[in-house]
Amino acid sequence: MASIFTKIIKGEIPSYKIAEDDKHYAFLDINPLQPGHTLVVPKRELNYIFDLGDEELADLTVFAKKIALAMKKVLPCKRIGMSVVGLEVPHVHIHLIPIHQVSDMNFGSGTAQVSKDEMKEIADQIKGAL
Ligand code: 5GP
Repeated sequence: MASIFTKIIKGEIPSYKIAEDDKHYAFLDINPLQPGHTLVVPKRELNYIFDLGDEELADLTVFAKKIALAMKKVLPCKRIGMSVVGLEVPHVHIHLIPIHQVSDMNFGSGTAQVSKDEMKEIADQIKGAL
């Protein structure tokens, strides 16, 4: 069965899309740790990031870098943190999170309250900075 992220990539499930190319897709996390929390995924569905080939992993990271640079331009933060967890969704993804301090990347703490309008506005801002 297709992963939830494959369904998002195919447009079967809506997302606040940031960018895509032929191999990658970036969109806002629906339960953001911080406003602007973005997920970057390869279109090829694979469970575990370290099962990616070297070139695929490098390409994914370079794509994530472009998104992170755009995020940093428009979101109030000290830097964009990058993390891989993958315990919930078995489709490789990188978390990009705007942070001021290390605790802003605490996956065990609560999520930020961001309205649908704010999500759309944030996605538009990041897209505009690409
Ligand atoms: P992980 O697998 O790295 O532990 O976490 C998966 C992440 O995907 C979580 O941060 C969760 O909020 C996000 N997520 C799960 N389902 C959806 C979804 O349907 N849409 C979006 N945009 N994000 C999702």
